[in-house]
Amino acid sequence: MKVEQTIERCRELIAEPLGAIAERWKESHPGGRAVACFPVWSPAEVIHAGGMLPLGLLGAGATVELTHADSRFQSFVCSIAKSSLELGFQGLLKGVDGLVFSNICDVARNLSSIYKRNFPHFHVDYLHLAQNSTSGGVADYMADELRRLARGFEEAFGVRVTEPSLAKSIELYNAIRARIRGLYAFRIAEPQKLSTVELYQILRAATQAPPEEALSRLDDLAAELPAREGRPKDRIRVVVEGAFCEQPPLGLLEVLEEAGCYIVEDDLFLGWRWFTSDVPADGDPFRALGQSYVDRAVPSCTRHEGREPRAKGLIEKVRRSRADAVIFTPPKFCEPALFDFVPMRQGLEREGIPHLLVEFEEKMWTFERTRNEIETFVESMLFD
Ligand code: SF4
Repeated sequence: MKVEQTIERCRELIAEPLGAIAERWKESHPGGRAVACFPVWSPAEVIHAGGMLPLGLLGAGATVELTHADSRFQSFVCSIAKSSLELGFQGLLKGVDGLVFSNICDVARNLSSIYKRNFPHFHVDYLHLAQNSTSGGVADYMADELRRLARGFEEAFGVRVTEPSLAKSIELYNAIRARIRGLYAFRIAEPQKLSTVELYQILRAATQAPPEEALSRLDDLAAELPAREGRPKDRIRVVVEGAFCEQPPLGLLEVLEEAGCYIVEDDLFLGWRWFTSDVPADGDPFRALGQSYVDRAVPSCTRHEGREPRAKGLIEKVRRSRADAVIFTPPKFCEPALFDFVPMRQGLEREGIPHLLVEFEEKMWTFERTRNEIETFVESMLFD
């Protein structure tokens, strides 16, 4: 399939409500269950190993009007929490059976409890992911937590999550992550052939489809992309940092690119490409996943890493992608992103790496002010 057709299919998929995707999958998997994961990282492998469909619960952007969720949250809460809850109130998750949240922040913790209380028919689990990466007991702790998650699915849905089935699911998701790493490497090398708006749609579609289907689409892209035409433009190369949970509106990414940036690295959909190398599929697969959560993880504001300062991972990203600058894009009211902004900015300043701060909300729809800011930033670098 041609690249443009594949991307068009991705666009169609991400326009569908999550519940409709789950219902469609169930037509060909009678008795099947669908489980949606809130960012950042949830073990989709454990869900898939139980014969269930893992999906990404990534908010609703500007597609829903908040009519109920506002009354369950304070006004100073990020948009993804509210719109993810609104999806439940508007019946757009009908077909989804389970939801997984984790301890990325207080808001996600509250969202999990609010879902439980307002929608008792969902099986809701809350993962306590390890916070102390340096402890000798961290891998065992993580393995136990993942086994607890699996037991919860078994009790709620009557499925079985065995070690052999989990090892197979790990191999499948390893293959998907390897293809995504390939796309990221391709964009670093030839950003004129794959825009970030396109890559965003490809990745988002991968979180809204059975993994076997996602892998086949990624394979098509890997085969077709190198032959795509694309003339390099006079743009600066930037890393986008901060959009690891709430996803920016496509319009914002479009404006960034049109205003003169090649986005060569980002932290979009981080949880779905969490591991920097393959998770071992031999031995105890629960332990392998748990150990990898700590030792093969991308740097993230939502995982305390006592071994490395936060700025180090960002600077390494800048160097690896040969970026000229960093655009910080924290969602409004996102504490993890805003807390880390300060040490990361200091790290960039020590290295002399230019940066710009552009806050966003997923429901943002007008970008003219942002366009002016980015154009001014780009011009100051191009004509310095
Ligand atoms: S956007 Fe930030 S504050 Fe909101 S749920 Fe995600 S990590 Fe938490």
